[in-house]
Formats: sequence, C-alpha cells, structure tokens
Amino acid sequence: MAGEAQDDCLFCKIVAGQIPATIVRQTATTVAFRDINPKAPVHVLVIPKAHYPDAASLAEGAPELAADVLRETRAVAEEEKLESYRTVFNTGAGAGQTVFHAHAHVLGGRGLQWPPG
Ligand code: IMP
Repeated sequence: MAGEAQDDCLFCKIVAGQIPATIVRQTATTVAFRDINPKAPVHVLVIPKAHYPDAASLAEGAPELAADVLRETRAVAEEEKLESYRTVFNTGAGAGQTVFHAHAHVLGGRGLQWPPG
C-alpha cells in the first residue's frame, strides 16, 4: 500500500533506526540527515518517513507530505545558515536517482553551477 515501509529500502531502515545516520532534524513526518557521500560542504537529504519511491509519486499520493518535505528543506537551509542553496529531487535512474525512497537533496556552502550536468 502507498506509504508503507518497505523491507528492502535503505531510507526506510534509516527511518526505523536500523541503519545509522547523522540526523540533523526530525518532524512527525520527515527526517533530515547528512548525505554519506557529500557533493557540497552542506549536503543534507530530507525524506518523508512514509515510503514513496520518488518525488512524483509523493506529490501525487501525499501532497501534504510533499509540502512537509519542502518546508523542511528550508528549515535545514536556515539551520545550516545557507544564504543560497539548491534543492534537488532526482526522479528516475536516468536523472541519477539511486535510492528509490523520495528525498530532497539540500546542497550549499559553495558556489553551484547552472545548468547542472
Ligand atoms: P539519489 O542519487 O538522488 O537517489 O540520492 C541518493 C543519495 O543517498 C546519494 O547522494 C547517496 O550518497 C546517499 N546515500 C546512500 N546511502 C546513504 C546512507 O546510508 N546514508 C546517507 N546517505 C546515503
């Protein structure tokens, strides 16, 4: 069923506390933790606790939860004192998605090029 934890999902395991992560913020519906392989001085992932495979299915299936995730990206940026930052949702393997539990990357702390590769 949509939103249910998946046994084989890495980020569901982080939500459940079965895999360690450096958690920077938590709300009733979201968790924010540092990316294990950071692409910028600040690289935090914000995920919904409920399992949706990508941003598109999250927006379609649980728009309020999608809004919670977006709200949390701003809270992370404020907490990390980022004046400017990039929020990225890779959607689909062709766009670089490797973990199929919706997540927003919050990247900052250095100049960011546009367009991205
Ligand atoms: P994607 O490529 O957009 O799906 O992003 C997945 C991100 O998860 C990558 O930036 C990985 O470095 C990150 N990642 C993978 N495993 C872990 C982990 O165990 N803890 C924290 N971040 C992770």
